[in-house]
Amino acid sequence: MIRLGLFALFSLVCLGSVSAANDAPIRALLIDGQNNHNWKGTTPVLKSILEQTGRFKVDVVTAPPDETEGFDPPFRAYDVVVSNYNGKPWPEETQRKFEEYLAAGGGFVCVHAANNAFPEWPAYNEMIGLGGWGGRTEKDGPYLRLRDGKIVRDESPGRGGSHGKQHAFVVEHINTDHPIIAGLPAKWMHVADELYDRLRGPAKNITVLATAYSDPATGGTGEHEPLLFALDYGKGRVFHTALGHSVEAMKCAGFVTTLQRGAEWAATGQVTLKPPTTFPSAEATQSIE
Ligand code: ZN
Repeated sequence: MIRLGLFALFSLVCLGSVSAANDAPIRALLIDGQNNHNWKGTTPVLKSILEQTGRFKVDVVTAPPDETEGFDPPFRAYDVVVSNYNGKPWPEETQRKFEEYLAAGGGFVCVHAANNAFPEWPAYNEMIGLGGWGGRTEKDGPYLRLRDGKIVRDESPGRGGSHGKQHAFVVEHINTDHPIIAGLPAKWMHVADELYDRLRGPAKNITVLATAYSDPATGGTGEHEPLLFALDYGKGRVFHTALGHSVEAMKCAGFVTTLQRGAEWAATGQVTLKPPTTFPSAEATQSIE
């Protein structure tokens, strides 16, 4: 009896510890401090989007406003780094530490204008796959274009990064077996946002998860522009969303859901978050307060 009792107790302790490890929050580090966007408004929204799942614990690190000397976030203490940063280059030593962190199996989430950052940092451009502005042109890599349902590289010369007028538009998923979007509706109406177009970059180890039609009537390209991406970088993973210009754009249930699932995938390689009960239809937007 005593032996059985001890064995039962031992089993419970073991099961308990395994369960605790699986339930441990994902540690996320959100970086802001320099951005030509309203980072003071959007950082609390990004933090809340992740923490409301109960899956993430988010710390924020804010770069100095005018320079980055001495900026040295402790990347290795986190499962995923989320960038709401579009500003001056980080110190070379910090860049190297970030490359090592990600290559060794870290996670990275690039949000909207963070893909404008660091045009001169080759490894960063490999991490995000495609970027815009900052003098990006054909020298930085191809456009990705949707042709006959497949993504192809387009090496034609031209600028990297632009957008038409903000408006609501339909986001269309492709590669729908990817864990980030598996089980979600394949088309959803995103709230008014900037529809980034003509992004370009190395586009290596990249899976395009969604495109949206960039209508010339709103100043767009007439192309189905790629907007959501999953990438591998060494042993690390990157989720890149080109959506999210403003607080309002980030409250779209489609933005919220893909960010949560993308961040979980970047951190762990898996998505355990259940599909949401509220989600935009192909015809109507749906925002979350
Ligand atoms: Zn923007």
